[in-house]
Amino acid sequence: MAEQFDVVVIGAGPAGYHAAIRAAQLGLKTACIDAALGKDGKPALGGTCLRVGCIPSKALLDSSRQFWNMGHIFGDHGISFKDAKMDVEAMVGRKDKIVKQFTGGIAMLFKANKVAAYYGFGELQPGNVVKVTQHDGSIVELKGTNVIIAAGSDSIELPFAKFDGDTIVDNVGGLDFTEVPARLAVIGAGVIGLELGSVWKRLGAEVTILEALPTFLAAADAEVGKVAAKEFKKQGLDIRLGAKVSKAEVTGKGKKKEVALTYTDAEGEKSLVVDKLLVAVGRRAATKGLLAEGTGVKVNERGQIEVDDHCHTGVNGVWAVGDCVRGPMLAHKGFEEGIAVAELIAGLPGHVNMDTIPWVIYTEPELAWVGKTEEQLKAEGIPYKAGSFPFAANGRAVAMIEPAGFVKVLAHAETDRILGMHLVGANVSELVHEGVLTMEFSGSADDLARICHAHPSLSEVVHDAAMAVSKRAIHKAN
Ligand SMILES: Cc1cc2nc3c(=O)[nH]c(=O)nc-3n(C[C@H](O)[C@H](O)[C@H](O)COP(=O)(O)OP(=O)(O)OC[C@H]3O[C@@H](n4cnc5c(N)ncnc54)[C@H](O)[C@@H]3O)c2cc1C
Repeated sequence: MAEQFDVVVIGAGPAGYHAAIRAAQLGLKTACIDAALGKDGKPALGGTCLRVGCIPSKALLDSSRQFWNMGHIFGDHGISFKDAKMDVEAMVGRKDKIVKQFTGGIAMLFKANKVAAYYGFGELQPGNVVKVTQHDGSIVELKGTNVIIAAGSDSIELPFAKFDGDTIVDNVGGLDFTEVPARLAVIGAGVIGLELGSVWKRLGAEVTILEALPTFLAAADAEVGKVAAKEFKKQGLDIRLGAKVSKAEVTGKGKKKEVALTYTDAEGEKSLVVDKLLVAVGRRAATKGLLAEGTGVKVNERGQIEVDDHCHTGVNGVWAVGDCVRGPMLAHKGFEEGIAVAELIAGLPGHVNMDTIPWVIYTEPELAWVGKTEEQLKAEGIPYKAGSFPFAANGRAVAMIEPAGFVKVLAHAETDRILGMHLVGANVSELVHEGVLTMEFSGSADDLARICHAHPSLSEVVHDAAMAVSKRAIHKAN
């Protein structure tokens, strides 16, 4: 007989573990199932984000940035050194330790909150029963008054470039190279391609990024894309736009393995030979084997589980959150959906504002934005004013040798309400939240301009950009 729960969550990634913990906090009897194993072959909670996504990529970005700074920035501070070397094994080992700490942390949080953890693959059956095939092959059945599907996403594989975990890899392999590849090609100039490409570039790899679209960072504000492209070029990242890859052939053996790529751009067919190929062309909702016949849960043509604005699937008591549903594939979007659904189940007013979800790319400089781009505002015919301010005119940024980038505030031309904020520069992953917060409170550029910001700080760039909206920035000609 199936054990009865108030809430059964399938998937313990950011969306699922937030849903499970919040539901348990609200007094609901909760179970959470996850199929993933860590590098050590043991169950590891936390999903893509903690195992092979957000956290490990940031660990490597930080290590590689320290190394890059030694060669490129330390001299300006008057620091000299001899023969800096990167021990890749130690770098990856540090990353693995962080992953273990955080995945283990979720198990502890489950225990502390009395969330029953089940380790295995969950399949939703009709009638809100979840059949769990555990790692030892045994099967248990859990019945939930509510079931929250938080199955996440998997890397998209290209038919001509199958992942082999060694020469042709996705993010999982790209986080675990045992040495710096001399030549690395990345297919896809999106978040993952740019972040992992930056890691290995900083450590000495020759990195070529092949992007099929003709525009760099098409989803970002055009000015962000332009400044970012210039900075990445200075760092030696070779980004080729309009480059459609059609073939990836692995030749050679052992250390002599190579990948011969064929791609076509505006000039015709071209070839490129590299030592490793990272495919980062996007992710697809992980719904394979998840839904038994007759559950009534619908999957759309993109493979995503269909939900309404409140993450409800339309089937009584069945919800879905995170990467497996519409919306940006971002951990924090999943966090908020998980919490909102748990609160809705408990009779509280759960809600996620999709208009104020921040986007961050953790390159150097960092890129971040929230709300509408100038291009979107123009296309939608919304009258707006823009104010921007460069980091090069900010005392703290210059003292830190971080002069690249700018902050741009977009406000409605008549009401002054902030509609978007776009940032390139040091620590903009933190600064973007000034925009998020102001927008959440329906604030104006004038509200932000009248808030006292500490001096000297990078946040003054946000302040000056807000003042520039009404042409009253102090530290630049308006
Ligand atoms: C390299 C990389 C870097 C990233 N960096 C960032 C970043 O900096 N910031 C950011 O916001 N986002 C980042 N992301 C995206 C982020 O990782 C995802 O948006 C986030 O993990 C999605 O959370 P989720 O809970 O929906 O799914 P997931 O994290 O994918 O978790 C789903 C979990 O469910 C389990 N599961 C799936 N199906 C079943 C089943 N049937 N039964 C049992 N268990 C199941 C899976 O094993 C997995 O553990 C990054 C992604 C990658 C790949």
